[in-house]
Amino acid sequence: MSTVRFRLPSHVVVEEGALDRLPEVLEVLGCRKLLLVTDENVWRLLGGRVEGVLRGSAEPMVSFARGSGYPSVGTVRAVIAERDPCAVAGLGGGRPIDVAKYAAHLEGLPFVSVPTALSHDGFASPIVALKDEQGNPVSLFTKPPAAVIVDLSVVSRAPHRLLASGAGDILAKLTSVADARLAQREVGERIPEAALEMAEAAYRILASHIGELARWSGEGVRLLAEAGLLAGMAMAVAGSSRPCSGSEHLFSHALDKLFPGRDSLHGEQVGVGAVVAAYLHGLDWEGLRESLRRVGAPTTVTELGVTLEQAAQALELAPKLRERYTILHKLRLSREEAARALREAGVA
Ligand SMILES: [Zn+2]
Repeated sequence: MSTVRFRLPSHVVVEEGALDRLPEVLEVLGCRKLLLVTDENVWRLLGGRVEGVLRGSAEPMVSFARGSGYPSVGTVRAVIAERDPCAVAGLGGGRPIDVAKYAAHLEGLPFVSVPTALSHDGFASPIVALKDEQGNPVSLFTKPPAAVIVDLSVVSRAPHRLLASGAGDILAKLTSVADARLAQREVGERIPEAALEMAEAAYRILASHIGELARWSGEGVRLLAEAGLLAGMAMAVAGSSRPCSGSEHLFSHALDKLFPGRDSLHGEQVGVGAVVAAYLHGLDWEGLRESLRRVGAPTTVTELGVTLEQAAQALELAPKLRERYTILHKLRLSREEAARALREAGVA
């Protein structure tokens, strides 16, 4: 018998002006000494506002996350040791969120996630993506945020490219869930059904509202936030990134490993990877590609800064990066087969 044990965020606020709720969230946590981990750009834009909101209710301290490696985590831990806060908030895009989440986890403090962009599904999840000493990406399981505050007036001001990338990461749950179900069937992997249903629901929220997302209206941004919350919860329930990360993520990791230094975003790579994975699974890859196109996300490997030959190399390498069973582990494509799949799925 497998067991299901998980923790979820206890306080979630998704609304225009949600930043104003920070004092309320800190009161629930019983905390008056907050460490904010952010970056200089975000702090320049929002620092005054956050300080104003917290005036009278909490004493904020600020630490800047200058990289996404362990040294940045070490810097935040040193500030925690010196200043003794009772909670850590990550305010910004992926980097401050991940650094703050991991430092809070290691120090046993509650973490408050305050994303300023929704470019991937990490803002409500228990997973952190960091770089190790060699600069290789590492993905670690922590505890989920104690609270998630998504201020829609802040995240909707982020560049459309970031929103489209976030949509790519969520639309890719079509294939991450298909990979998980394949692993259940073929290698008997145990994954809580609730986790798979949540990840599927995150996908459906976007897939059934592509019109709003294509306009990037306020409604579209709110739906993206809700889908991201569900994806984060799916990972918390599964106890791993399994429901939200399959062959399409392996393709993205392989691109990063083989061809670093391009400027394509996580969700952009994962979206294109999902089109190929959907083709290999026999799912509606054309519908997925059209959804990506409509939200403004890339649909070709050229837009990711690689050639067909390079993308085929990445697709061939992908299943060797991780043992977690996916359609790529089942098929073990040769370079030529990978190139054919990329062409037939219309991404090259
Ligand atoms: Zn992702």
